[in-house]
Amino acid sequence: MADFDYDLFVIGAGSGGVRAARLAALGGARVAVAEEYRVGGTCVVRGCIPKKFMVYAAEFAQAFKTARGYGWTIGETSFDWPAFLRAKDIEIARLSGIYVRNLENAGAELIHSRAELVDAHTIRLVGQDRTVTADTVLIATGGWPTLPPGVPGIEHAITSNEAFHLPELPRRVLVVGGGYIAVEFAGIFNGLGVETTLLYRGPNILRGFDDDVRTHLAGELERRGITVILGCQHERLERTETGVVSHLSSGHSVETDQVMFATGRAPNTAGLGLEAAGVTLNAAGAVAVDKFSRTSVANIWAVGDVTDRINLTPVAIREAVAFVETAFRDNPQSFDHQHVASAVFSQPPVGSVGLTEAEARHGGRRVDVYKSVFRPMKGTFYGGEERTLMKLVVEQASGRILGCHVVGPDAPEIIQMAAIPIRMGVTKAQWDATCAVHPTAAEELVTMREPWIPAGLSQGG
Ligand code: NDP
Repeated sequence: MADFDYDLFVIGAGSGGVRAARLAALGGARVAVAEEYRVGGTCVVRGCIPKKFMVYAAEFAQAFKTARGYGWTIGETSFDWPAFLRAKDIEIARLSGIYVRNLENAGAELIHSRAELVDAHTIRLVGQDRTVTADTVLIATGGWPTLPPGVPGIEHAITSNEAFHLPELPRRVLVVGGGYIAVEFAGIFNGLGVETTLLYRGPNILRGFDDDVRTHLAGELERRGITVILGCQHERLERTETGVVSHLSSGHSVETDQVMFATGRAPNTAGLGLEAAGVTLNAAGAVAVDKFSRTSVANIWAVGDVTDRINLTPVAIREAVAFVETAFRDNPQSFDHQHVASAVFSQPPVGSVGLTEAEARHGGRRVDVYKSVFRPMKGTFYGGEERTLMKLVVEQASGRILGCHVVGPDAPEIIQMAAIPIRMGVTKAQWDATCAVHPTAAEELVTMREPWIPAGLSQGG
């Protein structure tokens, strides 16, 4: 066997890369992980974690309103953005430090450098003027926000990356896109008191989610004061003395202080030397892998967003675990990308697992739909108008629950638990045999007895 410097070289110290590096090192492999920026990757540094802190901060707007409804006297409230940013950055630094320590404790070597492949076994450490060799290479470089090409004035817009560090909170913001990041940031800005507009090119936000979820959430966003503009996109952006003007395909223009594009993310593959190493990309520009996360080159593997399968932190981690089992423990494992639950931390949030109603009906499968839209008890007390949606999609023939969709407070927490029995193939009868926990919102999920009959359709349609 050739003599390599390392058994495993990981490029990218995000969720997937760090997990793989740690597990392989703990198993006795000689491991190095290269990171050109901060350890922790998108999730810790400029994604899930700082985003959730912003969501927490923004949720106080609703909490103050609720508190008043419950008899509290709330004086004048104000939000100190710089103070929030300082606290957020301290916490992110702490979490990044934990990742570093975990790597060190596992015996993996952390190299603060950009790494590029020279060939399948040789890695150049940019800036350190040296190369190293490795038997196995793992690409875990994640993704990066993209701006749509060909939009004049796009340089006046920011992405989520910059939104985490804005020197001051804008008074007015336009968020572009209808995906996870767009609806989450629209909720954040709105909650923090920013006059918020959400602009999406399609007929309804959150394409790919259940249609009831999409409609319900759009309504709730508007109820909370977000202006939602659908079916429309930018012709151009223009900076003026008073802000940034978005000229839209509808012929209208909207002036705001900040325009944030959340129009998707692209895999970080540029300049990595993948071509030199012979690694094939797929049509979307992501690293093409088989179900074991192995690329077109036998000793090079890839996990996480750079492979553009399901771009979620826990998925990258599970792909990394399966990779280590396969490549280092002689125990071939592939992560099952079915039934991955996800949450959108909009306000209110969304939790979803399994098939949408449309997916379930696809191909003529007969399904029953159970649906409940109600005002949660915490809100009814003070006359709050917010509504929660709970929905189950059930296969008629087997009685199995194919999908569960929730929009409302605690939806992410609810869906985490619902995902377990649904992945195990629970039937509606078994689900309903579970006694309710009262008084909760989630009890509605186990007490929906009658299938919902769409207008104009007979039962079972
Ligand atoms: P998404 O793919 O979710 O959404 C991108 C949005 O931008 C879509 O609404 C898309 O519209 C729109 N869009 C794309 N191109 C253009 C264009 N040229 N002009 C106008 N609109 C455009 O990407 P995000 O950036 O929101 O998130 C990336 C991924 O990160 C997510 O898919 C998810 O996997 C992950 N993520 C997960 C989170 C969570 O778990 N809570 C939070 C944040 C991110 P259309 O639908 O018409 O294509």
